[in-house]
Amino acid sequence: MSIPLRVLIVEDSKEDAELLLGELRRGGFEPVFERVETSEGMILALNKQTWDVVFSDYTMPRFSGADALVCLKERNLDVPFIFVSGTIGEEAAVRAMKAGAQDYIMKGSLNRLVPVVKKELHEMAVRRERKRVEERIHHLAYHDVLTDLPNRTLFYDRLQQAILIGHRERRPLALLLLDLDRFKEVNDTFGHHYGDLLLRQIGLRLRKCLRESDTVARVGGDEFAVMLPNTHLEGASLITRKILKVLETPFALNDATVEVGASIGIALYPDHGEEGDLLFQRADKAMYAAKQAGGGYRIYLPKHEQSNSCRRMLMGKLSRAIEQGELEVYYQPQWSLKTNRVIGVEALSRWLDPQLGWISPDRFISLAEQTGLIKPFTQWVLKTVCRQYDEWKKAGLNVPVSVNLSARNLLEKRLPDQVAALIRTGCVQPALLEFEITEKMMMGDPSLSMEVLTRLHAMGIPLVIDDFGMGYSSLSYLKKLPVQKIKIDKSFIVDLENKGDIVIVHSMINMGHSLGLEVVAEGVEDEFTKNLLEAFGCDVVQGYHISHPLPFGEMTRWLRDAPPEI
Ligand code: C2E
Ligand code: MG
Ligand code: MG
Repeated sequence: MSIPLRVLIVEDSKEDAELLLGELRRGGFEPVFERVETSEGMILALNKQTWDVVFSDYTMPRFSGADALVCLKERNLDVPFIFVSGTIGEEAAVRAMKAGAQDYIMKGSLNRLVPVVKKELHEMAVRRERKRVEERIHHLAYHDVLTDLPNRTLFYDRLQQAILIGHRERRPLALLLLDLDRFKEVNDTFGHHYGDLLLRQIGLRLRKCLRESDTVARVGGDEFAVMLPNTHLEGASLITRKILKVLETPFALNDATVEVGASIGIALYPDHGEEGDLLFQRADKAMYAAKQAGGGYRIYLPKHEQSNSCRRMLMGKLSRAIEQGELEVYYQPQWSLKTNRVIGVEALSRWLDPQLGWISPDRFISLAEQTGLIKPFTQWVLKTVCRQYDEWKKAGLNVPVSVNLSARNLLEKRLPDQVAALIRTGCVQPALLEFEITEKMMMGDPSLSMEVLTRLHAMGIPLVIDDFGMGYSSLSYLKKLPVQKIKIDKSFIVDLENKGDIVIVHSMINMGHSLGLEVVAEGVEDEFTKNLLEAFGCDVVQGYHISHPLPFGEMTRWLRDAPPEI
């Protein structure tokens, strides 16, 4: 079967064009072509349709090959451009390639023509696929996968921009933070799938209440943020009431109907703050006040600062918990799909407060980050991990341990020294430790973070990009960082069969490999996902399907009996 090919020929000789077409036909192509010999002709042809390949003579009476190439490049068209000429000399050929031509072929020997065309078509397809995936990854970096609303990063960018405009044009703006009141109940009663459906519907309803110029984003599990440019107190209150009203209507989720309430906090620019962080904090405080009052909305008031006793209490408790060793490190195994064996464990911290119950790491780590407790906390994690690793070593269980770092840790110049001191005690070797960082962490002070990372790397400690795909500039950054692995974020992997983006996951794996990195997938909850990842060439999996994170004692037993194959 012949392959259709749209060919633009820049050539003054009809006979030469025919020779070229004949060669293509013999090579299995079915060319649809147009021949042009002037600049105007070429421009018309390029505007008229898309072409798969452009062939051009080098010297022609009314046009030149070099100009034809410029004409294509000026239009930013990614179409292979091949010189076919009898006159092009070695030097001109080199110049032409430098200017962006893909290849050149001598008119006398057209036998290279077909292989060159095939190669160029293939390379163009690869380039286009890569571009498509990069665009998709870029989109995902700024949007929430579940609701497709902007995520916290994009929201924050837009807020900063709106503040700049507000400042210049002396216009106010309102920031709303919305937290659902009974979301956890929905998740616990009906399962995560229903929780996800609910979040999507909420996203849609919020969008509908707002104007095009407003931004609504999902900024946390069940937290949404809304930005209303050019809006005063009255306008903000009005829209907030409208939002609360549309959320009152029950939600139909498959066979169930659920009702959820919301608490909304409002902060206004410039009255409550002139910068994004402060507005966020104050809207958050107002939101807490609304929550404590049982729902509805609150506009920020200075008294909310004091009423924020809940956070303060939690901070006090965390500080004591770190001092008194009330925290615990759990471990989750990482399973190699290449060797079918455990190849490491990730340390995940747990906090059980006697009165409050389990407090999730996402919550207490962000609290620790905000209060400076993160330094003693990370020290505690590292020490615990080294001690327990030492026990495993003595029991003949040699597993590398992966430790999560937080953004603040990368701004601590002393961290590498502290890690070096731990290593000197002899309880752990650098190659058996591993640090997980996220791309977001590089944003605070990239050069300082890079310095800390480079020093850790120089000590022989492998570095992993955690939550890959949720970051900022995925690929460009990756090339600069001294990392060995990427860990694809669990939001792409969980429930891959139903809602996951299979094509993207496949591309991420390929991309990781093409950068020479090992690829780990987290959030592997079932056999189907594991098999699919294995078929895609993924190196390592981690998730409930292999094991939940377990306390030290249970992990020790698990490692002893680790089944040779899962
Ligand atoms: P992470 O490093 O991306 O860890 C993966 C999270 O996914 C863990 O949540 C883990 O329990 C959970 N997980 C594991 N397998 C599955 C699965 O199959 N399905 C699903 N849905 N989830 C799975 P966890 O333990 O709640 O930790 C949340 C985050 O808190 C971690 O995300 C990490 O960023 C942070 N964290 C935990 N411990 C520490 C720590 O000691 N230091 C620092 N700086 N951060 C930590
Ligand atoms: Mg991690
Ligand atoms: Mg992760």
